[in-house]
Amino acid sequence: MTQHYDLIAIGGGSGGLSVAERAARYGKKCAVIEKGPLGGTCVNVGCVPKKVMWLGASIAHTLEHAAGYGYSLGEVSFDWSALKQARDEYVHGINDWYHTYLADSQIDEIVGSARFVDAHTVEVDGRRYSAEHIVIAPGGVPTLPQTEGAELGITSDGFFALQSLPKRVAVVGSGYIAVELAGMLNALGADVTMLLRREHLLRNFDAMLRENLMEEMLGDGIDILARTQVKRVVRQDGQCLSIECENGQRLEGFDVLIWAIGRRPLSEELDLGAAGVESDAQGYIPTDKFQQTNVKGIYAIGDVTGRAQLTPVAIAAGRRLSDRLFGGMAERYLPYENIPTVVFSHPPIGTVGVTESEARETHGEAVKVYQTRFTAMYDVFTERKQKTAMKLVTVGAQERVVGCHIIGPGADEMLQGFAVAIRMGATKQDFDDTVAIHPTSGEELVTMR
Ligand SMILES: Cc1cc2nc3c(=O)[nH]c(=O)nc-3n(C[C@H](O)[C@H](O)[C@H](O)COP(=O)(O)OP(=O)(O)OC[C@H]3O[C@@H](n4cnc5c(N)ncnc54)[C@H](O)[C@@H]3O)c2cc1C
Repeated sequence: MTQHYDLIAIGGGSGGLSVAERAARYGKKCAVIEKGPLGGTCVNVGCVPKKVMWLGASIAHTLEHAAGYGYSLGEVSFDWSALKQARDEYVHGINDWYHTYLADSQIDEIVGSARFVDAHTVEVDGRRYSAEHIVIAPGGVPTLPQTEGAELGITSDGFFALQSLPKRVAVVGSGYIAVELAGMLNALGADVTMLLRREHLLRNFDAMLRENLMEEMLGDGIDILARTQVKRVVRQDGQCLSIECENGQRLEGFDVLIWAIGRRPLSEELDLGAAGVESDAQGYIPTDKFQQTNVKGIYAIGDVTGRAQLTPVAIAAGRRLSDRLFGGMAERYLPYENIPTVVFSHPPIGTVGVTESEARETHGEAVKVYQTRFTAMYDVFTERKQKTAMKLVTVGAQERVVGCHIIGPGADEMLQGFAVAIRMGATKQDFDDTVAIHPTSGEELVTMR
């Protein structure tokens, strides 16, 4: 017999859990189908374990800086496996919490892999479930290239499974995951080489952020090889990996190679065709602004839509969808502009709104930019002085702030409040009229000339 629900979410990650939880709060009968651990990418192989490692790596930097503040520490050791064990326990605690939470919210948890039977029915391990509303939220997985020997490398998923700190690591890729993994491994003591297909790190970010980050990563001792494409990966002497590049270069002696070259949506196994749901050539599912697919009653949220692939985006899209479907908020949806985001590099980056070049493309001469670059007080006393840099992109006579870009210690925690101001349409004058908090780096954002 087919069990019927008001709403079924396919995927128990950031998006699926949020849409079901909000719908259940409106008294709707919901189920979440999940084939892996609850919490999805973010909790298990994304934001959460990544941030733990970043925090650990930041302590390594602090230890390096300690001498400047009068400490003499003697020999310091780091135990990767102890941190990994503590991290795994933390993640398992979150998984357990979600099981309880679903039960407390009276949401059914269906374990297994879902595929569509028709537009209102899905099947999991031979059992059928139907719903008025089905939300597709299966997220994605990291991709491997077609390169010979690619299988000798790992992805970000494999990074989280590493049992010990590798000595020598190659990170292939230039996006935020590549930058974050390279920075953490380097800080924790690995010898890291990054291979970029093109010239820059973080291609879609503001040029100021890209340039400063490149300088900081090089200053931290990371070897960055631009315009270097991998041709073949081979195992040398049954142990280390060697990388042959398209430009003839041969790089040898890596314990680990990490592919951080992108992700693909997990839409294939859903049998979307059975429900008539369209996807694009890469498997992403297009939706309108209300997260509605081309089939009535079927929605897509989170990474599978290919837009702003971030946990809070999947959560917000899910919650707003339930508000609209069951909460009487007919016009509620998530606008995809002004989404703040942080790159947990060393130092971190915080960015919201448009880049300077995007603003110039749209608004031309009406764009005015304010920027600053300085050594924060913390770094006055450290041996290696990292730079903090900030940029405000404004538009029009009112100088409405349409972009805010920060790199430097504290950027990660600094951005959230500025994102509120920018969302509300703050102008440069509003920034100037805000009393500074002294002495902080953040005060530079309200005192720029
Ligand atoms: C290394 C890394 C670091 C990241 N760091 C950050 C960060 O710092 N901040 C941030 O905001 N975002 C970060 N992200 C991105 C974030 O994790 C994703 O944007 C977010 O998890 C997307 O949520 P989702 O619900 O779309 O998918 P997911 O969280 O991936 O959840 C999808 C779930 O669906 C399940 N599933 C798939 N197919 C089926 C099926 N057929 N049947 C049943 N279940 C299925 C999967 O097992 C998975 O659990 C990071 C990602 C990675 C990889």
